[in-house]
Amino acid sequence: MPRILLLHTGGTLGMAGGRPSALRPAAFFKTLKSRCPELFQLADIELELFSNLDSSEMQPELWSRLAAHLHRRLPEFDGAVVTHGTDTLAHTASALSFMLPGLPKPVVMTGAQRPLGEIRSDARLNLIDAVLSALQGPPEVSICFDSHLYRGNRTRKVKVAEYDAFDSPNFPRLGTLGVEATFAPGLRQKGPFRLRERLESRVFLLKVYPGLDPALPLALLPHVRGLVVEAYGAGNFPIAPDLGRSLLPLFRQARERDVPVLVVTQAHHNGVDLSLYEAGAAALAEGALSGGDMTPAAALAKLMHGLAYYPDRVARARYIETASVGEMTEPGTNVQPSPVKKSKRAR
Ligand code: ASP
Repeated sequence: MPRILLLHTGGTLGMAGGRPSALRPAAFFKTLKSRCPELFQLADIELELFSNLDSSEMQPELWSRLAAHLHRRLPEFDGAVVTHGTDTLAHTASALSFMLPGLPKPVVMTGAQRPLGEIRSDARLNLIDAVLSALQGPPEVSICFDSHLYRGNRTRKVKVAEYDAFDSPNFPRLGTLGVEATFAPGLRQKGPFRLRERLESRVFLLKVYPGLDPALPLALLPHVRGLVVEAYGAGNFPIAPDLGRSLLPLFRQARERDVPVLVVTQAHHNGVDLSLYEAGAAALAEGALSGGDMTPAAALAKLMHGLAYYPDRVARARYIETASVGEMTEPGTNVQPSPVKKSKRAR
């Protein structure tokens, strides 16, 4: 029998309670064995408790520990399933993808919108599909949810109260688990499987909005090591000198302080093109980095990672602006959805 490591970190799928009281973390493995015994027919599954938290408690220090744990244990298994709350699932998946270069086996993350113990829970199917994806899917950090497999660092939580809670707007799905399960080949990473778990967490995510007083992010600058700017559209933000809200002084002062500024877009589809409008061009002139079509979650994790591993400004910029684990579309690359390949007949 193939071997799967199932690492539980928490989230709604393992919670109990609910209206009129609040949902809170509960004894997930006990519920798993009674509610989903058929899971153990798919593989020899080792259950391990990493944490039992609402995923809003997830932090970069926990990501590093999780990456180290997976790096240590994965050689004993054919793949891993990581159960996790949906709220920060895309963040954790993004961070893990950067911290585990050369990943040779699938690490499939999943969660649920309703606890496994509830009658109309989506947890049971998500768990079964995640185990199947860990056995047959591509060797990368992915998210399995509502019958689909997504590249983890391309994913966004898009719905709060429906079962199809995730999407990867800028990248085709890695798998579909319908009547038949089909998987794309996914990433084939070169080089040995390494652990690069360090992160510089003193990074700030600034969302541009009408009315943003530039004095606020300027006051933050001495306290941060990196800045992700979630700009409008193709990478826009106010620059008019006479309207009092230009963000250009922020880009200028960040450059003077050697605080890298990585620009991504608030739009869910497509990415920034900093050469298209005056604001983007001015940002480029101040040394801003282009995040292309990276999600803000992937951009944050990548900047934290780049700051921890590349003290040199030029090497850091090269790392951040080049796709390393499929997190962004390289300029000129066509990412039209390619047809997924049918894998072995799934159960
Ligand atoms: N608040 C929960 C969490 O992220 C939501 C969920 O799991 O769906 O842990």
